[in-house]
Amino acid sequence: MYTDLQGKTAVVTGGTTGLGLAIVTRYLEEGMNVVADYIGELKVTDDLKAIQDKFGNKLVTFQADVSNEEQVAALAKAATDNFSSIDVWVNNAGIEKPFPTADMPYDEWQKVIDVNLGGVFLGTRAALRDFEKNFKKGSIINMSSVHQQIPWSTFAHYAASKGGTKMFTETVALEYAEKGIRVNNICPGAIDTPINAAKFADPVQKMQTQSMVPMGEIGKPEYVADAAAFLASEQAHYITGTSLVVDGGMELYPAFQHGAG
Ligand code: NAD
Repeated sequence: MYTDLQGKTAVVTGGTTGLGLAIVTRYLEEGMNVVADYIGELKVTDDLKAIQDKFGNKLVTFQADVSNEEQVAALAKAATDNFSSIDVWVNNAGIEKPFPTADMPYDEWQKVIDVNLGGVFLGTRAALRDFEKNFKKGSIINMSSVHQQIPWSTFAHYAASKGGTKMFTETVALEYAEKGIRVNNICPGAIDTPINAAKFADPVQKMQTQSMVPMGEIGKPEYVADAAAFLASEQAHYITGTSLVVDGGMELYPAFQHGAG
């Protein structure tokens, strides 16, 4: 637990499923107020209902498309209307859909860039504006991926968006460091969330992914939430512009494990 997080306010985009929901849950358990952003119709799953019941008005759900400028501004306003100011902003929303690059329609490329990279920019800008207005040493956390580092065939748009997120994070971290505003990336490996549901429903594909993780385990969303709690907290007060990899060793060239190569 990070006692300094108590009473602080976080916005988490894509906050009602997968990694976002795990982070929202952890932040609420840390005593924070949380605005959980979602897109489309709100699906109240058992897990979401449980935290709504447990934490009451400390949790606000708000619909906003992270790739839409006005809607992201409205999301920030919802946070300040409910909880007066913002301390932590997690740009977590993201999408992926494979295409061989030669067959990738331009609008599919653009959609992934708009949500995964454009959404990170719009969320970061909204957070910076609120931090500066209130002289806050806030924390921004971007949900990148091991694919900011590891190339991924048929996911050129996704890998480009995450590589862009890395350089965006480092640049903004440098730009705002003297104000005490921190900007960091989390790079999950293979985590069991809805984005991987179809793949992991197939035991062969699941085993194939698992074999790419030197620690031999598909990650749980809570492992990423642990990283998000740490980076939001004072324990990380000297950490900015970094990428915290949460992948069971996936980035460590697993083909070389056991002396191969
Ligand atoms: P997920 O599909 O459950 O989460 C993505 C969330 O983003 C969903 O709630 C979705 O509704 C929301 N979203 C999509 N487009 C949006 C938009 N335009 N505006 C607002 N919200 C939008 O899957 P997840 O695994 O929890 O993914 C969360 C993040 O983690 C993504 O950025 C993803 O790229 C990243 N990531 C996941 C893994 C993994 O293995 N699960 C690995 C690396 C990176």
